[in-house]
Amino acid sequence: MGEKLLVIDEGTTSTRAMLFAPGGKCLGSHSADLTQHYPRPGWVEHDASEIWRRTLECASAMVAEAGGPDTIAAIGITNQRETIVFWDKSTGEPLAPAIVWQDRRSAALCRKLKEAGEEPGVQARTGLLLDPYFSGTKIAWAMEHWPQLRGAGARLAVGTVESWLVWKLTGGLHITDATNASRTLMMGLGSGGWSDGLVDMFGCPRDALPEIVDCAGQFGTTPVFGGSIPICGMAGDQQAATIGQACFARGDTKATFGTGAFVLTNAGTTPPSSKNRLLATVLWQLGGRRTYAIEGSVFVAGSLIQWLRDAVNLIETAPETEAIARSVPDNGGVYLVPALSGLGTPWWEPDARAAISGLSFSSTRAHIVRAALEAMAHQSHDLKTAFAADGADWARLRVDGGMVTNNWLAQDLADVLDLPVDRPDFAETTALGAAMLAGVGSGLFANLEEATKMRGPEVAFEPKLDAEARTRRLAGWKAAVERVIR
Ligand code: ADP
Repeated sequence: MGEKLLVIDEGTTSTRAMLFAPGGKCLGSHSADLTQHYPRPGWVEHDASEIWRRTLECASAMVAEAGGPDTIAAIGITNQRETIVFWDKSTGEPLAPAIVWQDRRSAALCRKLKEAGEEPGVQARTGLLLDPYFSGTKIAWAMEHWPQLRGAGARLAVGTVESWLVWKLTGGLHITDATNASRTLMMGLGSGGWSDGLVDMFGCPRDALPEIVDCAGQFGTTPVFGGSIPICGMAGDQQAATIGQACFARGDTKATFGTGAFVLTNAGTTPPSSKNRLLATVLWQLGGRRTYAIEGSVFVAGSLIQWLRDAVNLIETAPETEAIARSVPDNGGVYLVPALSGLGTPWWEPDARAAISGLSFSSTRAHIVRAALEAMAHQSHDLKTAFAADGADWARLRVDGGMVTNNWLAQDLADVLDLPVDRPDFAETTALGAAMLAGVGSGLFANLEEATKMRGPEVAFEPKLDAEARTRRLAGWKAAVERVIR
C-alpha cells in the first residue's frame, strides 16, 4: 500500500486536489475554477456535475503525478459547507442546481419560522440560528419550488458537497460526516442522527438523507482512478482548518482571515450553547464521539482591503498595507469600523454602515490604511469577548488565511488580543486537516495527536503593546462603533 495522502478540497470558487507525504510535505496540487451562477439577486448556484468533473480532472492529474493509485494510502475530502446538492439515486445525476451557502433565497422562510417562535427550539437542538446560510431552509425552498424533486420520490438523494462526491467516487455510497451534517439544521447536535422533527420542519424526505458517519474511518473505496483507493477522511472546510491548526484542547482557537474571518474554538465534548448568537457546531466525530466548537465570523476582513484597493483606490496592492501601516507611529486617533454590510457578532446591527472617524488635518492616507488593518484586531477582540461570555475564552490564537501573511497585522492581533498568535509557515491548513483525518482513518496515524507530525514550523507573535496604549485602542474602537450604531 502507498502512503501518500490525496486531499480533495472543494472550495466555493475552485476545486483542488493536493498530495501530501505522510510527514506533511505537500507534494503538489492541481486546481480548477468553478462557475458561479447568479440567476437572481441573492441567489448563488453551482452545477454539481461541474463540481464532479473538475474534481475528477484535478484528482486524476494528481494521482498520475503521484505515480498511480497504488502510491496513495487514502483520500481526505474537505468542502464548502452548507451548499446542498440534489441528485437521482438511480442515475447518479443532479436533479437541480446545487444551492450555495451564500444563497439568500430562503430569507422569507427564515423570517416566517422566526415569527412562529421556532428559533430558540432550533438553536437548542442544532446549535444554529434560523438563517438562509444553513442547508435546511434551502432544502425546504427546493422541495417547494422544484417539482422534479418531489417527482423523484424514493430516487431523490440530498446531501452536502462531500456527500455528493463520495456518492460519485464510490458509485452509490450515501454518507455525510458529522461536521457537514451539523450545518444542515436537521441534525441534533448532541444526539447521533437526524432529528425527525427538524427533517419534517424542512419538508425533507427522510430516505433522501445520507447516513451520518465519523470524520475518519474506512468509508469506502473508489475505483475511478484506475485502482482502488480508500476514502478515509471528511470534514467541512472550517473544521478541517481547525484540525490542521491542531486545536485539540478545549479553548484552542483558530481564526482564518480571508475575504471574511472564521473563528472556531474547541469547546470540548459537551455540546455548548451560545447566549451571544455564536454558533455551536461539531468540530469532529471520531469513534462515534463528538468534539464541539463554538464558531463566530467577521463579515468583512480581506474584503475591506479589496475595497480600499478597488473602490477607493487608496492602495494599489493588498501587501503594501503592511509598509503603509508601519510608516506612522500610531493611528493618529483614526478608526475605521468596516460595517460595509452591517455589523455582526456581538453587535448584530444589519443596518449599521461603515465609518471612518477621528479625522483631522494631520490625518493621512497611512492613518486610514492603518485603521483598516487595526479593525481586524478590534473585530477579533469583540468576538473574543463574546466567546468568553459563552464560556469559551481563547487560550492563544492560531491564524491562517491570506491576510495574515501581513506581519504587521499578525503582531497587531497579538497586541490587541493580548495573546500569543501562532502562524504556520504552511498556510493550507484546511487541506492539511483533511490529510490528517485521512491519515487517521487509514491507520497511518493512531490518532489526531499523532497526525500533528504532519504540521510544519510556525511563527509566534507575542503581545508587546503596553497596557495603556492597548486600553486607549480598545476605548477608541468602542466609541467608534457606538457612533456607527446610533
Ligand atoms: P479567500 O480564501 O476568502 O479567497 P484568502 O485567504 O485567499 O481569501 O485571502 C485573500 C484576502 O486577503 C483578500 O481579501 C486580500 O485583500 C487579503 N490580503 C492578501 N494579502 C494581504 C496582505 N498582505 N495584507 C492585508 N490583506 C491581505
